[in-house]
Amino acid sequence: MKNPVKAVVFDLDGTLYLSGRPYPGAVDAVNQVAKRVPVYYLSNNTSKSPVFYENRLKVMGLPLAEDSIISALYLSLDEIHARKIKNVFFFANPEVYEWFAAQDPSLNLRPSVEETELVLVAYHNSFDYRELCELSFRVQRGIPFWVTHTDFVCPDERGPVPDIGSFMALLKTAYGVEPEMSFGKPNPAMLSGLLKLYRPDEILFVGDRLYTDFELAKRSGCRFVLPLCGESKMQDVEKLDVKPEFIVNNVSEIDFNAFLEGKK
Ligand SMILES: [Mg+2]
Repeated sequence: MKNPVKAVVFDLDGTLYLSGRPYPGAVDAVNQVAKRVPVYYLSNNTSKSPVFYENRLKVMGLPLAEDSIISALYLSLDEIHARKIKNVFFFANPEVYEWFAAQDPSLNLRPSVEETELVLVAYHNSFDYRELCELSFRVQRGIPFWVTHTDFVCPDERGPVPDIGSFMALLKTAYGVEPEMSFGKPNPAMLSGLLKLYRPDEILFVGDRLYTDFELAKRSGCRFVLPLCGESKMQDVEKLDVKPEFIVNNVSEIDFNAFLEGKK
């Protein structure tokens, strides 16, 4: 017997849905689990605010409580507060920018180059070249820069599209700079809130990406299931020295009751 799982955490893109369309059976499966234990959603995608995700998940019929959505945006904000930073050049989509500004109206998110204490890069997928130049004028001066996460690509139904890890490669090529800090998966800090409530082996994490989701599970010591409906294929798994203990085709195949009853 294993310790019964007391909370289940789901990745979103490539795990529960692709391009906003749920995989068959995924919504039902999550609802069944949520009748027994709390469920959480942990996505690295910071192209949208937590409020957008709340609405999207509600429309899809996924169960939602007040604290269900875990976002690197919250962790970034906590760290900005801990360091008492006020002038943050925030590179983000307008909706995320507005959300962030509303969280702490005392922050100056459009400081001049001279004023800028920190550059924070979220997954901005609507920027124009001038905005990229504004970002570059700051990082080339050696102003500290943080990223919400380091994924190279984001899944899309037409094929993976460049994410922050690719923006980082661009800035490294141009200026030789790298971010000082990243908050998203596989940083175990993403689970710090849950680890105050549960032991690591009482948390089951379900995610489709090996270098973020599986890596987070390994680093934090939580249980893990890999669904193959998203990014990772069996050939990718075969190349690993340490392989996920449980692999399924999609979320609807997971025997959650077995995990909840300590049989898996
Ligand atoms: Mg994913």
